[in-house]
Amino acid sequence: MSDGLTHAAWSDALREGALLGGACDDCGATVGTPKAACPHCGARGLEPVELPTAGTVYTETTVEVPPEGIDERGYRVAVVDLGAARVLGRLDGAAEIGDAVALAGHVEDEQGYVVPRFEPA
Ligand SMILES: [Zn+2]
Repeated sequence: MSDGLTHAAWSDALREGALLGGACDDCGATVGTPKAACPHCGARGLEPVELPTAGTVYTETTVEVPPEGIDERGYRVAVVDLGAARVLGRLDGAAEIGDAVALAGHVEDEQGYVVPRFEPA
């Protein structure tokens, strides 16, 4: 059985400009972030797959009170619909819901937690 999609592998790929998802053999779902089990059917061991790096803004919001370890305020985050999966990331530039965006790098905090960064495509 495969180890599935680990958070370390996902973060390493993102540092190199790739987005990984986890594909479930049992129900066919694809998730955009590392998970130990399929959120749809509970099967374990999601297979790593490379996701598209462009999509559309599904929803976005401005973070006024950031989580601990992040000093920045008033930045935007978005859930980006990549077709196969949705992924949460930082959103830069003037993109609104429904606009096309593409992966433009990543943001890494002091703990080494990495998130994708999207800009208008
Ligand atoms: Zn599943």
